[in-house]
Amino acid sequence: MGLNVIMMGPPGAGKGTQATRFARERGLVRIPTGDILREAIKAQTPLGRTVEARMERGELIDDATMIEMVRERLARADTDAGFLLDGFPRTVPQAEALDRIMDARNNGPLIVVDVRVPLQELVRRLDSRKVCSSCGANADPFGPTINRCGKCGGEFVQRPDDNRDVVIERLKIYETQTYPLVEYYQGRPTFRVVNGAQAPEKVAFELDTVIDDAATVGAAALKAGT
Ligand code: AMP
Repeated sequence: MGLNVIMMGPPGAGKGTQATRFARERGLVRIPTGDILREAIKAQTPLGRTVEARMERGELIDDATMIEMVRERLARADTDAGFLLDGFPRTVPQAEALDRIMDARNNGPLIVVDVRVPLQELVRRLDSRKVCSSCGANADPFGPTINRCGKCGGEFVQRPDDNRDVVIERLKIYETQTYPLVEYYQGRPTFRVVNGAQAPEKVAFELDTVIDDAATVGAAALKAGT
């Protein structure tokens, strides 16, 4: 049975950082939809050229494109042990499509973690967030403060969609389009909330604890056919 996790939370909640660590520690495939799109833009593939303008404005990419991207990725055998979706689903239709994909896979419960951070703290973090201009990695909050990327030596810069106006737009979109997902998932026995406003190590500990608990509860619920 796979360990299948969705990490939800507004931009700046620390999702990407925590998802990268969790996936590495558990040997799971991380599927970061935003990174996949940014790579497509960098390589100027047909997908990249289509999504570029919308992404720069901080708007969501259409559901059909995103659902197809995730469906194809989850069809690969390296997700059999489980996966960690980072940035998907972001709308209710995407969540519904994922439920259908999960039913067809029949490989363990879907664990949903909502990482919560107050609005003021998000704006502060996004304004100062730095990513590598060469490989796109986030500056590592677990590591020492350095100006160059530990992975490839590239320079840390602000992400084009992290400037204040676009950040506010992305937070608004989160509130209207993605937050309704909490309502969609919160009645499930495998839904968990984590306080993302703590130090990264504390968030990591809380995440590990709630995901392991949800995996046990979810497996039992599946067995009981609920
Ligand atoms: P992220 O790196 O997760 O903050 O995503 C950056 C941008 O990629 C978002 O602002 C959207 O434009 C796009 N994106 C990523 N994932 C999705 C998704 N599931 N649905 C729609 N747009 C997405």
